Amino acid sequence: MTDGELTSIEMTGKKMNDKETTGKNMTDRTEPVSENEYPIAQIRQWIDRLEADHILPREQLVALLTYEQAECDVYLFERARHVRESVYGKAVYMRGLIEFTNYCKNDCYYCGIRRSAAGAERYRLSEEQILNCCKNGYELGFRTFVLQGGEDAYFTDERIVQIVRRIKECYPDCALTLSIGERERESYEAFFAAGADRYLLRHETADEAHYRLLHPPQLSLSHRKQCLRQLKAIGYQVGCGFMVGSPGQTPDCLVEDLLFIRELEPHMVGIGPFVPHHDTPFADKPQGGLELTLRLLAIIRLMQPHVLLPATTALGTIDPRGREKGILAGANVVMPNLSPGEVRKKYLLYDNKICTGDEAAECVNCLGKRIASTGYELVSDRGDYK
Ligand code: SAH
Repeated sequence: MTDGELTSIEMTGKKMNDKETTGKNMTDRTEPVSENEYPIAQIRQWIDRLEADHILPREQLVALLTYEQAECDVYLFERARHVRESVYGKAVYMRGLIEFTNYCKNDCYYCGIRRSAAGAERYRLSEEQILNCCKNGYELGFRTFVLQGGEDAYFTDERIVQIVRRIKECYPDCALTLSIGERERESYEAFFAAGADRYLLRHETADEAHYRLLHPPQLSLSHRKQCLRQLKAIGYQVGCGFMVGSPGQTPDCLVEDLLFIRELEPHMVGIGPFVPHHDTPFADKPQGGLELTLRLLAIIRLMQPHVLLPATTALGTIDPRGREKGILAGANVVMPNLSPGEVRKKYLLYDNKICTGDEAAECVNCLGKRIASTGYELVSDRGDYK
């Protein structure tokens, strides 16, 4: 088999998982699916090299994303756990997610709170409601709060600065993460000066053509990347990331994602499967695969040993033990929901999202047990990058 054949394998094709077959391709890159017949010994050698060098040539990265031998996953995940334990031991950090607005001016084709999602019942939390979430979370042991929302013009820089200040005044021992999309550099600087510690901004895909398939013309990959670089330069702990199995994604796209991560050297990487939302243009697209998501978690762990890597809610949504499996593939963070019960079902980025009916306390208890079942331990700690 030639490298050319290998790189053309469609990620959503038969080889990965029958359930993930798209049947229809949004790009014209697809060529007939060919077998990935590298010997197991060869794949193990590449895994070892990735662990030692933190990088591989493109075609070997593609091979790691497309091999068929499940026994190689066992080895890959074992190496990823070894690396994560050498940096973070058995600790799993928790971040309390506060979904404070589902208004959004953007219209990303995959997202359930996009501007055009007519069925989305819009809400905003007040400053007091947000502080109440933190209070509740603090009592449950959270030492990181993540404020996430759509791009909502109501939350001007002044309002965000005010909220950041109040949270940091009340909880000086906690880290505060913002995840509120693309803003001006001056805005990011103001939030940082007010006390924000971290910023999550998934790049979504590092492949230009794929970015265009997922976003309306107003948005650009270059601006997204520029924001990430600015955030890093300002001094935030920064997280990028992407969805696995989003429509039109190929192994080549994923290699671009891995190379972008390598270049940016973020402190955090958020990845989870794409899950369709009924009120979006991608309603009928297949969801991303569990195996591929786990494999990417492990590869990212080997590439960036110190990275803070969540086992995401989306992973828990596509498999009842998805988050536990994520931890066993090298993830070391979970992000339970601290949003008030009455708004949880409204922050529906994708269908069937788990834990929308639970209280925060139930989520923490349940997750604590789930993590313990993997041999790891959910801890109460800011969980900074080491
Ligand atoms: N407005 C913020 C937060 C976006 S929502 C921002 O722009 O960063 C957080 C993440 O949810 C997105 O970055 C996206 O990767 C993910 N997401 C959105 N829709 C999804 C879907 N249908 N399936 C899986 N993940 C999705």
